[in-house]
Amino acid sequence: MQTTNYVYVLNNMVLTDSEGRWLFTENLVSQEDVRAVYELSLQPEYPVQMLVLDSLINGLQNDVLTLRQMLAGADDRVFQLLARASQLATWQHDHCFCPRCGTGLIQHEKDLAKECGNCGLLQYPRLSPCVIMLVSDGDYCLLGHGHNFVPGVYSTLAGFIEVGETAEAAVAREVFEETGIRVKNVRYFSSQPWPFPHSLMLGFTAEYASGDICIQPEELADAQWFHVDELPDLPTSFSISRFLINDFIRSRGRVPPAE
Ligand SMILES: [Zn+2]
Repeated sequence: MQTTNYVYVLNNMVLTDSEGRWLFTENLVSQEDVRAVYELSLQPEYPVQMLVLDSLINGLQNDVLTLRQMLAGADDRVFQLLARASQLATWQHDHCFCPRCGTGLIQHEKDLAKECGNCGLLQYPRLSPCVIMLVSDGDYCLLGHGHNFVPGVYSTLAGFIEVGETAEAAVAREVFEETGIRVKNVRYFSSQPWPFPHSLMLGFTAEYASGDICIQPEELADAQWFHVDELPDLPTSFSISRFLINDFIRSRGRVPPAE
């Protein structure tokens, strides 16, 4: 018999105790304090319930660790749990009324969805697909510095997929819009749920085809070609951007830098 674990959320925040723990083996709250319950784990042999609260109770806090701090160093299973908890909490918090008729939504009995009791419209948790891509040209890769980045840090380019667009087309469009570079040989790499607040990052590699760097100043502060032996400061180790860059480094026979 597997023990159920519990994660508690309030508004769009995953709560911790005073020591930063957020996954609990015991149920800390009574039924009347729980507004909604979601199954968090995607592995049936490892049940984890997410309990949505109306207020802080029992020593739980919302200001001990940020989500980024919780995700740092997380293994795949923990990352999945936290990403799902945060995205479901945001959806639970932000989607309260029917977008068609304005009636308050209620939890669907069986599905992970909310239902309008008036017109019947179903609302599912929101996912925003993004592409993120490592563009290479021999031993060089194209990285950008965003306006809100930590100084000195460069990352792979990224952007949201437009309605009606394929992911591959989005890769080519985003790279061209942000840097003026045309790419070829767009290849899928891997994906990562990115709970800031509800993205699904689809990672790709692509090769330089033509053009000179001409940045779109609203999107980027800078973009440059970096040689594999002269890379700038890189994004956090748990991001797919870093996985793409590390893969580029390894594919050129080098060893990725430690954290
Ligand atoms: Zn409705």
